[in-house]
Amino acid sequence: MISDSPIIMGGAVRRPAPAPASASMSPLKNGNGKDAKADDNKPAGGTYKGKEHNWALQASARINQDGIWQHVLTVGIIYLTYWINQQPATGQLYDSLTAKYGTFNINLWGTWIVSSAVYWIIGLIFMAFDMNDTLHATVARFKIQPDRRITWQEYRQVLRCVLKNQIFVNLPLIYLVARFSPLDTSSNLPGWWKTFGVYFGCMFCEEAGFYSVHRLVHHPKLYARVHKMHHQFTAPVAFASTYCTMAEQVFSNIGPIAIGIVLMRPHWSLMILFFCSLEIGTLTTHSDYNIPGLYDALVHDWHHYAFTENFGPTGLLDDILGTNKQFKVWLSELRRRDNEGWRRSAREALAEATQ
Ligand SMILES: [Zn+2]
Ligand SMILES: [Zn+2]
Repeated sequence: MISDSPIIMGGAVRRPAPAPASASMSPLKNGNGKDAKADDNKPAGGTYKGKEHNWALQASARINQDGIWQHVLTVGIIYLTYWINQQPATGQLYDSLTAKYGTFNINLWGTWIVSSAVYWIIGLIFMAFDMNDTLHATVARFKIQPDRRITWQEYRQVLRCVLKNQIFVNLPLIYLVARFSPLDTSSNLPGWWKTFGVYFGCMFCEEAGFYSVHRLVHHPKLYARVHKMHHQFTAPVAFASTYCTMAEQVFSNIGPIAIGIVLMRPHWSLMILFFCSLEIGTLTTHSDYNIPGLYDALVHDWHHYAFTENFGPTGLLDDILGTNKQFKVWLSELRRRDNEGWRRSAREALAEATQ
């Protein structure tokens, strides 16, 4: 059984760095360089008085923060889908597949097989980096909570749950869409603006739906029954993104996506694009590795660490509704310590050089 307590590997828990004595720093800034708005932990003097967090202490795990590369990755995935759809062979393939298997089977089995395969391939790659020490050493500097590593026993528990949700939740829900609202699988493939518009329309539904349901299941009356299981990992792994109850998988993970798809009814290829890109996103952001060039894993990792902030998938509603204040303050404090450490080592190097 997976215990509720965090997993500590190697016996030693890294101690948080002591807060610097200096109180002469300028006002704290958030990750975007703007002033952090509300900060209960920071008096006017600017010294951090809040709780010490053993989280993202490695500066290398914070290189990938709200950066341009994530947007490049998103636009790249959208553009790749558009480019594939523009190839003459793609249209011919859709016509022949539809003639051979029928729209219903492509909507049901095509969706389930492709989405499950993408999830497992990427999840297994992350799993290899978690469990093989040689591979792990290559990405250890990007691990947000480096003291915590999952065991094989816990991984088995997670994988059983992933399979259960894919078979008993994803498949029936995909069946309902295929049966009652099947998507076009013909060679009438969408152009650039439709591809772009459907992606962001679905993303809007995902942001609004996931944020709302996620905050709801943190309500004390629902948390233990619905959501506590997903929070057993305070330092998650990629496959733990669907380590959750079946109710959470229906209403929180799949429901908002299904609503966007049913409302917009795009070509089947765009539904697969959206589904797979969200899978890549959720696997990456649960991996506990914040690797430059991939999606920013800090936001959701903080949710698993701290429980009470960062409910949404993009951070937009968290920004608007102010449910990420401590997250921003702590990142600002870490950045200030980085700068302080850099200034101190520069002063020491100068003193040594001039002695
Ligand atoms: Zn949660
Ligand atoms: Zn999560």
